[in-house]
Amino acid sequence: MQSFDVVIAGGGMVGLALACGLTGSGLRVAVIEHQPSVQNFDPQSEPELRVSAINAASEKLLTHLGVWSRIKSMRASPYTEMEVWDNHSFGRIHFSAQQASSTHLGHIVENRVIRDALWQRVLECDDVQIISPAAIEKIHWGENEAFITLSDEQVLTARLVIGADGAQSWLRTHADIPLTFWDYEHTALVATIRTEQPHGGVARQAFHGDGILAFLPLSDPHLCSIVWSIPAPLAEQRKISDVTQFERELSVAFDMRLGLCQLTSSRFTVPLVGRYARNFAAQRLALLGDAAHTIHPLAGQGVNLGFMDVAELIGELKRLHREGKDIGQYLYLRRYERRRKHSAALMLAGMQGFRQLFDGNNPAKKLLRDLGLLLADNLPGVKPQLLNHAMGLSDMPEWLQQLSIIEERE
Ligand SMILES: Cc1cc2nc3c(=O)[nH]c(=O)nc-3n(C[C@H](O)[C@H](O)[C@H](O)COP(=O)(O)OP(=O)(O)OC[C@H]3O[C@@H](n4cnc5c(N)ncnc54)[C@H](O)[C@@H]3O)c2cc1C
Repeated sequence: MQSFDVVIAGGGMVGLALACGLTGSGLRVAVIEHQPSVQNFDPQSEPELRVSAINAASEKLLTHLGVWSRIKSMRASPYTEMEVWDNHSFGRIHFSAQQASSTHLGHIVENRVIRDALWQRVLECDDVQIISPAAIEKIHWGENEAFITLSDEQVLTARLVIGADGAQSWLRTHADIPLTFWDYEHTALVATIRTEQPHGGVARQAFHGDGILAFLPLSDPHLCSIVWSIPAPLAEQRKISDVTQFERELSVAFDMRLGLCQLTSSRFTVPLVGRYARNFAAQRLALLGDAAHTIHPLAGQGVNLGFMDVAELIGELKRLHREGKDIGQYLYLRRYERRRKHSAALMLAGMQGFRQLFDGNNPAKKLLRDLGLLLADNLPGVKPQLLNHAMGLSDMPEWLQQLSIIEERE
């Protein structure tokens, strides 16, 4: 039987980031992951289909964890502008890095690149052990520790178990934590597209009645990753439709902004569901990332929210450990829970409001959203606040905010 202070279920982007953040804290950490990272990144390879828009707050955390330069050396594409518009009216809003007094607004990074960089970093940490491929088979919640049985019958003990095992979290289910969820009545169709005109480092999003279409700029100036959120039957139809017809429909839905679009990858679909766990912590358990919440990808904030859960929990666990407290006591985990539930609830409510406002072509709604976009684009003081939110600067825990000098551990 091996004993750990913290056992993290799930070595995705969020679970690995927490493991990296706890190294050197004096806590012994294990990560249990189904799917080992392959670690054979080829810079000439086609971009992976799953990408994330990484905001400034997450960049700061990843820099502190010593992985940002590794991520950039693999492949990351900065974007300096964001443009959002409504195809059927005059509503439009534009943001630039200059307005944020920054060199960029964020980066588009393949999920695999982030995960590989974090995995490599964890392998360098003596106090973190990755157990993979492995999954939790059983868990027993004892008075002073949790007893975890893995699929190969290995038994581990932990003072605190972390559920970073994604949207379908095994741990959340086995801890009987209720989940509020709602169907966004959208399925995301994801693909890589070559555009006739260069993207110019601009992240673009079009609202078009029955859907939302995002073009995220990749390192190649003519390649974009698209997330097309549309009703499920339409998404399933477009996933298998004739390529020429797909490209034509896509170019039109995108208002021909970058000329003709050419599909360069396979197409895959993901049903979009909002989820919000009733508790983000319990006795000897904390949930974070998609295990605690999932949101509509329209603002590209899902994993950014997860990374701020990580930042908050790093701060809390280090403090509790320094003060000699039992890190698994729900009493002590409640502060983490309260803060992160608040941030996730705000984000979920914001996404829901946006989603409803931009759904359909009801004339009153159309007028409201046109006016909203127009005012947001022009009223003094509004844009900096929106930018602050988009860059995650208002959602960082204090310790991360106070890191004024961006430091790399490497
Ligand atoms: C179409 C789309 C576009 C998106 N775009 C963005 C974006 O631009 N920006 C953004 O911030 N977010 C975006 N998101 C959200 C983002 O992808 C997720 O928030 C993020 O992947 C969640 O990371 P995670 O580590 O919490 O979970 P996951 O990535 O799901 O990782 C969970 C890990 O746990 C492992 N696991 C699961 N069960 C077990 C088990 N029982 N035992 C062991 N291991 C287990 C899995 O193998 C996996 O590695 C998008 C989401 C979608 C669907």
